[in-house]
This record gives sequence, C-alpha cells and structure tokens, in this order.
Amino acid sequence: MVKKILVVGAGIGGQSVAIGLKKAGFEVDVIELHKEFNVYGVGIIQQANALRALDSIGVADEAMRRGSPYGKVKLCLPHGVQIGEAGTPPIGKFPSHNGISRKILHDVLFEEAQKVGLKYRMGVTVESIDNQPNVAHVTFTDGTKDSYDVVIAADGVNSKVRKLIFGDFKLSYVGLSVWRYAFKRPANLDTGYIFFNKKHKMGVIPMTADTCYIFLNSAEGDNPLIPENQLVEKLKTYMSAYPVPLVQELIPQVIDAKLVNYRVLETLKMPAPWYKNSVVVLGDAAHTTIPQLGSGAALAIEDAVVLVEELQKEGELTDVFERYMKRRYERCKMVVDVSETLGAWELLEYNDQALPEGANMGMLMGKTGMALTEPI
Ligand SMILES: Cc1cc2nc3c(=O)[nH]c(=O)nc-3n(C[C@H](O)[C@H](O)[C@H](O)COP(=O)(O)OP(=O)(O)OC[C@H]3O[C@@H](n4cnc5c(N)ncnc54)[C@H](O)[C@@H]3O)c2cc1C
Repeated sequence: MVKKILVVGAGIGGQSVAIGLKKAGFEVDVIELHKEFNVYGVGIIQQANALRALDSIGVADEAMRRGSPYGKVKLCLPHGVQIGEAGTPPIGKFPSHNGISRKILHDVLFEEAQKVGLKYRMGVTVESIDNQPNVAHVTFTDGTKDSYDVVIAADGVNSKVRKLIFGDFKLSYVGLSVWRYAFKRPANLDTGYIFFNKKHKMGVIPMTADTCYIFLNSAEGDNPLIPENQLVEKLKTYMSAYPVPLVQELIPQVIDAKLVNYRVLETLKMPAPWYKNSVVVLGDAAHTTIPQLGSGAALAIEDAVVLVEELQKEGELTDVFERYMKRRYERCKMVVDVSETLGAWELLEYNDQALPEGANMGMLMGKTGMALTEPI
C-alpha cells in the first residue's frame, strides 16, 4: 500500500502531482533544486486539455482568472491577412486556449500547494537512491536520508533521477530555436496570432489583461548559440520582417537583452517503461517536446493527474505503473512525434527546401488538437 511519496522537482508537473497526491491523502515530500524560484516572465499557452487537467487538481478556474482565455489562433501572412485558424477545440467550459505568464501559473500552483499543506524543501536534491521493489531509500544532498514507497521524478529535461536510475539519454537538437519576449498588451490584441514568413514564424499571445508575449521560431544552423549582446538587434531584425502594425508597434519595446528568452529546441523520448522498482518519471523528464503544438506542460499536468488516479487504485506497484504507462505513453509519444514533424517541415521551409508530398501543417495540427480532446 503506497503511503509516502517523494516528488523531485517543483515545476509544473511536480507541483501538479504533489497537489493531487496531497488532496488524495498521501504523505508527500517535495524537493526543489533551486533555493528560490526564478520563473522567467514570458508566457505559456495552455490548450483546453491542459485546463481540463488543471481542473482535476482544482486550479483551472484560477489559472483562467489570472491568465487570458482566448479562442482559436488566427493564422496570418506577414502583412496581417488571415489565412486560417488553429487550436485545440474547446472542451466543455474550457476554451481552446488560456495564455498565461509562466510566473503566474507557477504562483497559482504554489498557492494551492500551500493551501493543502505541502512544504517544499528548497535547494535540495537527491544524492543517491537505493531503489528497491517496494521502497526507495533516498540520501539527499544536505546529508539527510529518508525512505519512500514511491519516488516521482519531475525534475525536467535534464533529470538527475532519470540519470541515476535509467542512465544517460541524449537530447536531440531539431535545428530550430525560439525567441520570446514579454510586452504590454496592445489594445487590439483580441486573440492569439501566428504570422508566417519564409524564414521564420512569429506568434503574439495574450498573457493577462495587460500583458502579452511573442515567440519567434528561427533556424540558426549548426551553431545556434548567440552572444547576449546580439540578442536584441537580431530579434528586432526578425520582427521587422512582419509589416503588420500589431508587430511593428512592439519592436521599439525590445530593449533589454536580459529579457530576450532565447532557446535552442531539443526533444527527448524516454523509451518505455518510465518506471523501475519504486521510481517513476513524469513530464519533460520522460518526454521533452518542442513547442510546435504548445503542449509540453499540458502533458506534464496530464501525467500528474493520471498518476494520482492510478496510485489511488488497488494493486501491486508494477500494476499501478503499467496502467500509468498504458494511459500516457502513446499520447505523449504522439505529441513529441507530431511536434518533431512540424519542426522538420518548418526547417525545410526556412532553408528553401521542398516539403514532402502531402505535408499540410494546418491539417496535422488540427488532427492532433482533436486527438488531445480525447479523455486521458
Ligand atoms: C520555448 C518553449 C516554449 C514552450 N511553450 C509551451 C507552451 O506554450 N505550452 C505548453 O504546454 N508547454 C510549453 N513548453 C513546454 C513546457 O515548458 C514543459 O513541458 C514543462 O515546463 C515541463 O514541466 P516539468 O514539470 O516536467 O519540468 P519543468 O517545468 O522543467 O520543472 C522541473 C523542475 O525540477 C527542478 N529540478 C531540476 N533538476 C532538479 C533536481 N536534480 N532536483 C530537484 N529539482 C530539480 C527544476 O528547477 C524545476 O523546478 C515550452 C517549452 C519550451 C522550451
């Protein structure tokens, strides 16, 4: 019988699973590597299925109240002419999207965690895990030790727990990078927008009633690391290729290199099973996707919801984890596979190469969005 659980990592997935488990009556410890949270200020897109999963742990309404719910995304040419729309269909009361600042989403989860009585140990991680079939003996980096029925690795893309228990996995660079920056929200920003150019694409996404952020995907070749002193000018140059007034008005506000969030895009698909003895993996630690479907965090929250549900059912731990795998593996793999395909097509376009016959980004995104509305 599982009673005492350690959650490693207090990101989106870790906080979600800890809240769900605590509400279900488990004894939960949470450790977080960083001494203080320093969540960066750009936004995150939550699709309807992410909101449905957040609702299972009781925070969807608050996330929508403090975020910016919107409908389908308008797909446009660089001058602003609309050519289509995209997005996961609404699910019940949940709209296609909620744009929200990452910091605010973190706060919503953290406040709920405090409310249910979770205490996080900050600045601590695991030193070693003696991982037995029904118990994991954990030594922490502060020298303390404890034993748990289950250890949940929610420690993100570079998961230390994954490395300790399952060995090394290599991230795969997809040839693309993303640039993000937060802005005061223009009065006429009525929904999310994506503008398509020959060499990059750019989204303008509402975050709160007063703020929005942009993302811009580009291909930076084999040497994608860009010195900080070039970030502002390079981002402004990219943005200047979109004559639409919505973007032009934002360009002068790009002034601080420290606020340019530039990331090289990589994926990781951990093979099944994502568990061994008493340790189980969720979120980016098991499946790191690229943001082409805006769904990585949604998957982490869904993993959390499913794990909480399965841990409450009868059976051996192996059965619990097998049921978790059955409900999560194919769905997560689909999202990473489709995101990689979309990324590969983008890369071909940016490099002036022909797309494979039948390639249709809008159709693939629509089909996947529909699949994500299926119950988890
Ligand atoms: C550019 C970009 C844009 C994205 N946009 C979207 C989007 O619009 N919508 C969406 O749904 N997803 C998006 N994602 C994906 C999303 O950010 C991730 O999928 C999500 O953050 C994963 O949550 P997680 O809890 O698994 O990992 P994380 O959020 O990375 O959390 C891991 C936590 O563990 C902590 N930690 C790390 N190592 C240790 C350790 N050894 N011990 C203890 N703690 C540790 C970290 O400090 C962190 O707090 C995007 C990703 C990128 C790169």
